[in-house]
Amino acid sequence: MSQTHELIIVGGGPAGLTAGIYACRARMDVLLIEKGLVGGQIVNAVLVENYPGFPEGISGMDLGTAMRDQAEKLGLEVVDAEIVGIENSKFHNIVRTSDGTSYQAKAVIISGGSEHRKLGVSGEWEFLGKGVSYCATCDGAFFSDQKVAVIGGGDAAITEALFLTQLASRVTIVHRRDELRGSKILQEMAFSNPKIDFAWNSVVEGIAGDTVVRELKLKDVKSGGESNLEVDGVFIYVGLRPNTDYLKGLVPLDDMGHIICNELMEIEVPGLFAAGDIRRNSARQAIAAAGDGATAAISARKYLRGA
Ligand code: NAP
Repeated sequence: MSQTHELIIVGGGPAGLTAGIYACRARMDVLLIEKGLVGGQIVNAVLVENYPGFPEGISGMDLGTAMRDQAEKLGLEVVDAEIVGIENSKFHNIVRTSDGTSYQAKAVIISGGSEHRKLGVSGEWEFLGKGVSYCATCDGAFFSDQKVAVIGGGDAAITEALFLTQLASRVTIVHRRDELRGSKILQEMAFSNPKIDFAWNSVVEGIAGDTVVRELKLKDVKSGGESNLEVDGVFIYVGLRPNTDYLKGLVPLDDMGHIICNELMEIEVPGLFAAGDIRRNSARQAIAAAGDGATAAISARKYLRGA
């Protein structure tokens, strides 16, 4: 089966939904394809305090849902499917999904975002859902009055550690350096929170347990010393990896797998555009992704209409 549209948007996070809003308002024939929850990674954020217009902050779920509602109210059609390949020719692009469906479009905006990077240590996969999690909002409640660790030192690790202090009895941030990467305001909140302690200069070498997680095997990267940290849960926030595996050979990617595009979100392949976390040099913020989505939709409209 093959459907034809003017524009296909790959991914339904802030970038893709904003592109959809702009495309619908420009009366373009547009389809958005998303394999997961429409709203993107932001729906996992407990509280978003840096998206303009919400002085008290807004939950990521509410923000993502509002973006989806706005796009659908304008007529955006959303299909739930996983994209496995895009083929580009002079005349059109063919977007293929894992269920065997193909869609044709003259222009495609690739805004498929990123996924949580894995630690790649023993026990990480085995204990997934049995103490290992990548989403404190989703799984934090299972660890009421228990001991948890958060791995990473960026904004995501600190934000989610702060959230977990409302549930867990102790939250240990395990970071591979002696200085956090996350923003200063979040650092101040973490340092002053009595429920948070830190394992500095420490990397996780393994996650161990029986039917559920019981401890982390840590290594001090400076001294080489090894230790065990007793925990009931471990939340892994060691950054994001762009969802571009299926694009290798089609579009230019940097060393980290981000799509290389210009400031108009144009990829060097005619008719293809990128937006959001998936592109090189993205600020990796929801507001920046939304801005990219608007730019990409305007560029796609000009491409399609020849002006
Ligand atoms: P990030 O900023 O890339 O931070 C990843 C953290 O994980 C870093 O501290 C890094 O250590 C550590 N790390 C990476 N690989 C590791 C490994 N193999 N083992 C142990 N530690 C490892 O990623 P993020 O925190 O997910 O944030 C992603 C983007 O979203 C950022 O731009 C961030 O600003 C944004 N974000 C913003 C907010 C907010 O504004 N409230 C909330 C969440 C995310 P090093 O520091 O040593 O590199």
